[in-house]
Amino acid sequence: MQIKITVLPGDGIGPEVTSEAVRVLEAVAQKFDHQLVYTSEKIGGVAINEFNDPLPAATLAGCLQSQAVLLGAVGHPDFDNHPPHLRPEAGLLKIRNALGAYANLRPARLFAALMDASPLKASVIEATDMLIVRELLGGLYFGQPRGDDGDSVINTMRYSATEVERISRVAFDLARKRRRKVTSVDKSNVLEVSRLWRQTVIRVAQDYPDVTLEHQLVDSCAMALVSRPASFDVILTENMFGDILSDEAGAVVGSLGLLASASTGGPVGLYEPVHGSAPDIAGQGIANPLGAILSAAMMLRYSFDLDAEAAAIEAAVERTLAAGHRTRDLANAGEAAISTTDMGRHIIAELA
Ligand code: NAD
Repeated sequence: MQIKITVLPGDGIGPEVTSEAVRVLEAVAQKFDHQLVYTSEKIGGVAINEFNDPLPAATLAGCLQSQAVLLGAVGHPDFDNHPPHLRPEAGLLKIRNALGAYANLRPARLFAALMDASPLKASVIEATDMLIVRELLGGLYFGQPRGDDGDSVINTMRYSATEVERISRVAFDLARKRRRKVTSVDKSNVLEVSRLWRQTVIRVAQDYPDVTLEHQLVDSCAMALVSRPASFDVILTENMFGDILSDEAGAVVGSLGLLASASTGGPVGLYEPVHGSAPDIAGQGIANPLGAILSAAMMLRYSFDLDAEAAAIEAAVERTLAAGHRTRDLANAGEAAISTTDMGRHIIAELA
């Protein structure tokens, strides 16, 4: 099979982690006799520097012509005082929107070998295996009106029942392939938007009588994520709550650097690690590439239906961690840490 993808390395550690993910994809293609064809385009701060546009037309056109997109991360403090449309993050929001990627799937599972990398006790985190289903194209990040109205600054949290329904169906469908439980997270004690969210989820749940539905307020969910993370199966939530809770879930399972994501729903899937551009460690060769590598595995599974290939990457990650290899974010004090490229090399060796 031909695997035709566009790679958007982006800023900071983005290029460092995506190059490892591409090397792993090349190894998988070789092992399973596929042909990997990829082009690389600019997004984020590097695109602003070169084209004065965080998502140049050529980048978007390249993405739309490929079968899937692998993105690193965007963002750099140099752009902090730029107007919103000339910030790296604007490129990210635009590409997600242009690809129609409304369903952001963020698994957070504890690797057995990483029990001691979590700040939480083993008895609390063991068996943690959740999937956060985050609505990606609505809510505060996209709602209009937004911006400066002269007197004050506005962001709008807006959802239609149609938007809530389509993301809910994704969550319930995925729950059926897991432990059949959905926790819908909202703030319905305060927000009208959340009340629509909850009513809509309850309506959709009637079509899934075999799936248990529970509701949780986002503040209480933030607490439960650290006190009883293993009790969650599928967490269904809106854009900003999902953004925040998934970083928290990253810390629970050992490091944000481990978390992968798939953004689906449109014609071209978008795959990216959950973390950002990590300017504090960029250029040092110490970033954890596993989030990007596991995102590549999700790409094989969701965009190309290559389950065995995806599972081979996941198993290689599991074995590499079991062998004790750790990037700095996963290493405990006094433990030796390996570089980004060495982690990639170990995964490829395990694949072979
Ligand atoms: P971040 O995710 O970049 O970093 C948070 C912390 O986690 C930092 O200490 C960082 O060193 C660490 N970290 C993140 N990824 C890591 C990895 N792979 N290996 C080891 N350590 C890792 O979040 P931030 O510092 O709040 O934001 C930095 C920039 O990234 C900002 O400009 C922000 O807007 C942007 N951002 C982009 C995305 C994205 O592109 N999807 C997501 C979040 C933040």
